[in-house]
Amino acid sequence: MGRFAPSPSGPLHLGSLVAAVGSYLLARVVGGRWHLRIDDLDPPRVVAGASDLQLRTLEAYGLFWDGVVVYQSQRGAAYEAALERLAATGHTFPCACSRAEVAAAGGRYPGTCRAGLVAGRPARSVRLRVPATPVAFMDRWWGEQRQDLTEQGGDFVVRRADGVVAYPLAVVVDDAALGVTEVVRGADLLEATGPQVVLYRCLSLPLPTYVHLPVVTTAAGAKLSKGSGAAPLPLTSPGREQTLYAALAHLGLADPALRGAPVAEQLAAARARVDPARFPLGARPLPIPARAATVEGSRPAGREPL
Ligand code: GLU
Repeated sequence: MGRFAPSPSGPLHLGSLVAAVGSYLLARVVGGRWHLRIDDLDPPRVVAGASDLQLRTLEAYGLFWDGVVVYQSQRGAAYEAALERLAATGHTFPCACSRAEVAAAGGRYPGTCRAGLVAGRPARSVRLRVPATPVAFMDRWWGEQRQDLTEQGGDFVVRRADGVVAYPLAVVVDDAALGVTEVVRGADLLEATGPQVVLYRCLSLPLPTYVHLPVVTTAAGAKLSKGSGAAPLPLTSPGREQTLYAALAHLGLADPALRGAPVAEQLAAARARVDPARFPLGARPLPIPARAATVEGSRPAGREPL
């Protein structure tokens, strides 16, 4: 069971297509469903019309999803239930500190409200107590990961001061509700995964398999992103067919004989080439080894997901 979860902050680009195609193919090859979720949690970052265009784009590329589209903006009750559960099990605490105060402390939460609110300071956000020991998880491409969340920023926010649930909690609650077993997405989200793994544990939910695909970069080495004005995916021929070919080539799944062929044909051929035990090519084979060898390539700096 897989999913693609774009943020509606702009049109999809080649990097998004790699994540969409990668998650689609792996889900289909293991015989699972593939869902589409629109991560529209953060109203100021939602661009009007962007999600509709994203849906039309996926259809134009032959990437048809199962079931109804899930919109995070409609999932408030599920997030509230998870927040209540985390509070009841003592994993979270109310916090009065502002972003500016945390920034002034060096960007790492200094634990000011961990043992209770300081008298006279009202709660603004809700934070999760991160474990003192590094969190470990296996990524199919990058190998074993260890993230020291204390170093990475400390106790992280699960409900923001404006009342909006924070991205890691929403993603975990939604992926678990959909029954997602393979999370396939760009390596720029690798750093965001440690907090999610902790949340799976705190909520006693089964952890999915992670594949963080190497990101697509420009000739100058910069990551493609909606924010940096990456070209929107073409919706018509021949650009569409060529772009799908480029995305499949990035995943090591392109067949040169099919360069420019109709998208359905390219997808069917790629599907036949996917070996779920070695996806993407160069990934750690399943069953997951106890210890990974060296990490290939350099890992991009993490970004703030929506
Ligand atoms: N919506 C998130 C983003 O584009 C990705 C969510 C995910 O794949 O976990 O930043």
